[in-house]
Amino acid sequence: MSLAVKPRPPLEGQHFHVVIIGGGINGVAVARECARAGKRTLLVEQNDFASGVTSRSTRIIHGGLRYLEHGEIGLVRESVRERERLLRERSHLVHPIHFLLLLNEQSQRSAMKVRAGLWLYERFAKRKSAGLSEMELKRVERALDAGHQWSIFNYEDAQCEFPERLVAEWMMEAAAAGAVIRNHCEVVAVDIAQGRARGVLLRDRISGKDERVEGGWILNCSGPWADRVCQRSAVRTSKPLLGGVRGSHIVLPRFSGAPTAAVYAEASDSRPVFVLPWNEQVLVGTTEVSDTGDPAKAAPSSEEIEYLLRTAARLFPKAKISAHDIKYAFAGVRPLPNSPGNAASSVSRRHFLHDHTPEGAARLISVIGGKLTTAASLARECARKIGIPVQEPTTIAMGSGSSLDPMFDHAILDIARAGSVSEETARGMMEWHGPRAMDIARMALVSAELRAPICPHTSHIVAEVVEAYRQEFAVTLGDVLLRRTPVALGACWSESCSREAAARIGAVLGWNEQALGANLESFEMERTAFLKKPSRGIALEAAAD
Ligand SMILES: Cc1cc2nc3c(=O)[nH]c(=O)nc-3n(C[C@H](O)[C@H](O)[C@H](O)COP(=O)(O)OP(=O)(O)OC[C@H]3O[C@@H](n4cnc5c(N)ncnc54)[C@H](O)[C@@H]3O)c2cc1C
Repeated sequence: MSLAVKPRPPLEGQHFHVVIIGGGINGVAVARECARAGKRTLLVEQNDFASGVTSRSTRIIHGGLRYLEHGEIGLVRESVRERERLLRERSHLVHPIHFLLLLNEQSQRSAMKVRAGLWLYERFAKRKSAGLSEMELKRVERALDAGHQWSIFNYEDAQCEFPERLVAEWMMEAAAAGAVIRNHCEVVAVDIAQGRARGVLLRDRISGKDERVEGGWILNCSGPWADRVCQRSAVRTSKPLLGGVRGSHIVLPRFSGAPTAAVYAEASDSRPVFVLPWNEQVLVGTTEVSDTGDPAKAAPSSEEIEYLLRTAARLFPKAKISAHDIKYAFAGVRPLPNSPGNAASSVSRRHFLHDHTPEGAARLISVIGGKLTTAASLARECARKIGIPVQEPTTIAMGSGSSLDPMFDHAILDIARAGSVSEETARGMMEWHGPRAMDIARMALVSAELRAPICPHTSHIVAEVVEAYRQEFAVTLGDVLLRRTPVALGACWSESCSREAAARIGAVLGWNEQALGANLESFEMERTAFLKKPSRGIALEAAAD
């Protein structure tokens, strides 16, 4: 298969201060931290960066209001601090979002408890949430099931619509600081000798070649795969480190009356469920189902899809949502700490670092748990654990993250001019590529093919794809269309978009017919395995019951 692979220099026999297994948000954050400290760092990802649970999450950057119920004050404080930092530092990717917490007469949580929780939550953020307009509140009230008496609590959190892009940026920063980056390269096993981890055996999934490298420290950041990495390396823990819990989502088109704020409500079994505006669609999630299978094969069951559909339909009966509306569904396995006997919802969302010295593998550390929100603080903790003296960043000025807007609008005009592209395209480029959008615009100026939209329904252009292959370690068409320029997650995407996009990209990259066919086929396989169309068995008229 001919894929646009950047030359990958051999690694055989090289020595690294630290080898990081897994290129999800945690592994990439750790690699960036180690590389910035001047340590020779290797980051290895078996598939593509952010293709694991990171891209299967609800995409909220949150303090974790719900964790207050479990008394996890420290975690909430840390999460709020990290949320504020991301809002400041990555304002093109992480933006504030209003949440409407809904209670009705059947809710388990009391209004008093919620009020107290929100009061504490705001105190941690050291700022007052901006309120939602009366008009929007009224609009939401009208859309809700009129058969209930609703109490609506309004607060602010944040959303990163595309953690795939956040991971790409951090990965580029790690590379710029000297990290060696390998995706589509699997760690077959960690080499252990004389009670110590010494290196890893790698298998390049593109060339099929095996290589062995040495590592002073091996960090197992493989998320829900952490136990598998240990098993393959004959590291025997007394019990599994993880208790895999699958979470699923469904994606709906924006239905009539869909709120512009995120809705946080209780499902029929009192579990919290989110209904969020996302990527010009509506994201509904999530579930908690025990799943000890291969995390790469995690898929939403019909029951989970029905449960989410019913929850959305009950909340917004006037929208008459049915299974026909579901654009796609996806699932991921939470890498939660193994906690037998505890309900999934009560298992701590805090991360911990497992040192394998007692199991005869000193200098091997497994990272267990964590959230998108706290990946950067986890990375600092991880670096310190292996003796890298990383300082906590200086206190940040708290803000809403939207203060950069005037600059943002200015930049859009400059980019549109520099690349001879529409303002809509320039805005999309700024939102996904931040400060690097200008370089992409300059590249786009070179030809009409580079300025062409990736498919007829998107304003994102082929130049962004070329940048992904050239600079962002994209190897396959899936790396590009699902993660670096994730247009295939969009509302309009279909098989015909895939064909059109492959043709436009292939024309610029010089693919012959065979390469085009191979790229398209492997992309469609990945897309349809990830973004599931519900099966015919789903109760189609969930709204009717
Ligand atoms: C349903 C759901 C909703 C969530 N919602 C939120 C949310 O709204 N906000 C939030 O903050 N958090 C959320 N989370 C949690 C968050 O998504 C995860 O904690 C986080 O993404 C974990 O990142 P990770 O890097 O540890 O794991 P991953 O992203 O899974 O990365 C691990 C990587 O390791 C790679 N790997 C595995 N084995 C090997 C090997 N042998 N060699 C090389 N590479 C290997 C995998 O391919 C994978 O890419 C949610 C999680 C789920 C499941």
